Amino acid sequence: MTRRLNLTNTMEESKRNIAILGSTGSIGTQTLDIISENPGLFKASVLTAARNWELLAAQARKFLPSVVVIAREEFLAPLREALSDLPIKVWAGAEAIAEAAALPENDTVVTAMVGYSGLIPTVKAIKAGKRIALANKETLVVAGEVITKLLAEYDSEIVPVDSEHSAIFQSLMGEQRSQASKIILTASGGPFRTKSLADLENVSVKDALRHPNWSMGAKVTIDSASMMNKGFEMIEAKWLFDFEPKDIEIVVHPQSIVHSMVEFIDGSIKAQLGTPDMRIPISLALGYPDRIKSPRPSLTLGQYANLTFEKPDYEKFPLLGLAFEAINKGGNMPCILNAANERAVAAFLAEKIRFVDMPRFVEEVMQAAPFVDAPDLQQLVKSNSIALEIADEKIKKYII
Ligand code: MG
Repeated sequence: MTRRLNLTNTMEESKRNIAILGSTGSIGTQTLDIISENPGLFKASVLTAARNWELLAAQARKFLPSVVVIAREEFLAPLREALSDLPIKVWAGAEAIAEAAALPENDTVVTAMVGYSGLIPTVKAIKAGKRIALANKETLVVAGEVITKLLAEYDSEIVPVDSEHSAIFQSLMGEQRSQASKIILTASGGPFRTKSLADLENVSVKDALRHPNWSMGAKVTIDSASMMNKGFEMIEAKWLFDFEPKDIEIVVHPQSIVHSMVEFIDGSIKAQLGTPDMRIPISLALGYPDRIKSPRPSLTLGQYANLTFEKPDYEKFPLLGLAFEAINKGGNMPCILNAANERAVAAFLAEKIRFVDMPRFVEEVMQAAPFVDAPDLQQLVKSNSIALEIADEKIKKYII
């Protein structure tokens, strides 16, 4: 699986073929930046999008993948029309996305779709033995145990794209897992770090979308503001690196320069640092085990007078505590947490509920949804729909 890149031979057949699920989003477009900067190393083999068919068509015209897929079937006709002069297969629907992910020509599948929709195509790609450049959080949050088993069974591997998990991955490179004792997961603290609990009662969608360091999609930006994102990352870290939640410490580091750390049994701590630019972890996920030369300026530490670290505030950000509760309970509880949070974020973005209602609502759904102890993939799919139904019912009383 860990075929090295051929850094000197840039013949067509030695290129690594990259399928990007969610190519029009923030991670998708930055992945295409890396591919266009390194035409001798990578080729985009598959591009998929949820609904932005116009950008997908423009990307296809530039990168000439063999297949493009649009999730929403109503955009198939205009997309086909836009690409009718090119030798590109144009498909539509969720099943076509999963099928495209598993195509024999793909070496690596970048899973950059938003939300629960990332799960099934990722499962398909794992079963086809692909390397997964994992950017979709919900895959491991919802189905960490199932995915971990599948990776072993189908000789597939995950190289994380998320900056924190990439930092942990890099800190563990060349180390023995048994000698690592703790993960220190850093969090920027989001736009509301310095606000009081009372201030949070009245924050707007616009305020929540104003992330201090990272430019990301709307869903993950809201999750960052509520710190749900860090809760999800803790759950992902448990599955990716086999650490118990109690051995994952969350530390708020507002400058987002130290992307996470690992502590070892001798008391030594390794950290990975860099500018807050997702193209750094993306390029490692595409190139691993090789590193790709970056054309961008590197980090100038002298510009940063202070790198600071502080404890997270669980009272202000209850969703972080609920993430620990969900993973400690296990079974389908993280799946329920994720479903409830998807509905909470959508309702908040639509200005239907308040920011502070999100954790109350999520906790209520977690208490109401039926618990399943050791769910298989099918039971998780069912748990997700049941949790969404309960969420749709429960959200009514929060609507403003
Ligand atoms: Mg992150």
